[in-house]
Amino acid sequence: MNETDNSEQIIKQRQKVGRVHRMKKFITGFLVFWTIFSIIAVILLGIFSYHLYKEVKDLNLTVRTMLEKESSSSKNKSKASTDSDLKTNDVTSDVENLADEADVRKVYLTFDDGPSKNTGKILDILDDYNVKATFFVNGRTDDHSKKMYKRIVDEGHTIGMHSYTHNYSQVYASLSSFKSDFFRIQQLIYDYTGVKCNLYRFPGGSSNQVSATDMSTLIRFLNKENVRYFDWNVSSGDATTNEESSDEIIENVMKDVVKYKTSVVLMHDAATKDTTVKALPKLIQKIQGEGDLILPIDDDTRLIQHVSLSTK
Ligand code: ZN
Repeated sequence: MNETDNSEQIIKQRQKVGRVHRMKKFITGFLVFWTIFSIIAVILLGIFSYHLYKEVKDLNLTVRTMLEKESSSSKNKSKASTDSDLKTNDVTSDVENLADEADVRKVYLTFDDGPSKNTGKILDILDDYNVKATFFVNGRTDDHSKKMYKRIVDEGHTIGMHSYTHNYSQVYASLSSFKSDFFRIQQLIYDYTGVKCNLYRFPGGSSNQVSATDMSTLIRFLNKENVRYFDWNVSSGDATTNEESSDEIIENVMKDVVKYKTSVVLMHDAATKDTTVKALPKLIQKIQGEGDLILPIDDDTRLIQHVSLSTK
């Protein structure tokens, strides 16, 4: 090997090292660029999707408000055209019933759709707290139900009618079918408890949209029978198909009972309403913690009715 070969090799090696350096620089540069680009892209995407989310939310709200307006105006229209003798009472914003600081608020817990396996549990809890409530019952003739009707009355609670069958298409088919259902449940309560019941809650409430008979006709019938009907101004939410948790039930009730002098609270002691049973002890404690009275419905209870006769 001579001098020239050596220097040629050195030059080649240097060129190679140079290429590797350039390559490394290029790769590093590319990686830095890619990282920065990705970060910027993620930030931009974030901002973009946040705006999109807000737009969708606003749109949702608008659509919902529109739908609510639509349904309430169509409801009023159908009411006005078919039930001309009825007036709708806004039980949730009745000025006369709004409580001041000084008022001792009255809370009426009402349980619909029983008796069931849960009725006994509810009666036990009410007994633990020495609290009286109101049960709007349906017609059942099994031994357990018979015992429950009796316990309701014997333990000082108020018993009310909630139709015999609770079958909308049957109860509301006509005045005569309403009457026969009514007398059937009144008789059953009398047979099992000795009480001539004069309290009623319409299945679905007096403002229900399912009755095939003009509600004013049915209300007139109840008036003639000296029977008072009660709806509710506080809903526990336990009637919805998505079963509310016991915490939600408590929250639903507590946010509203503090507003009114008289709260009639809609609850259910049906067999499927286990969360209502679970919620009850804490609910009673909370209501009593607010200094409110828990009472059974009696003749002096302020009427809470969704609709009533306008000619009264
Ligand atoms: Zn019911």
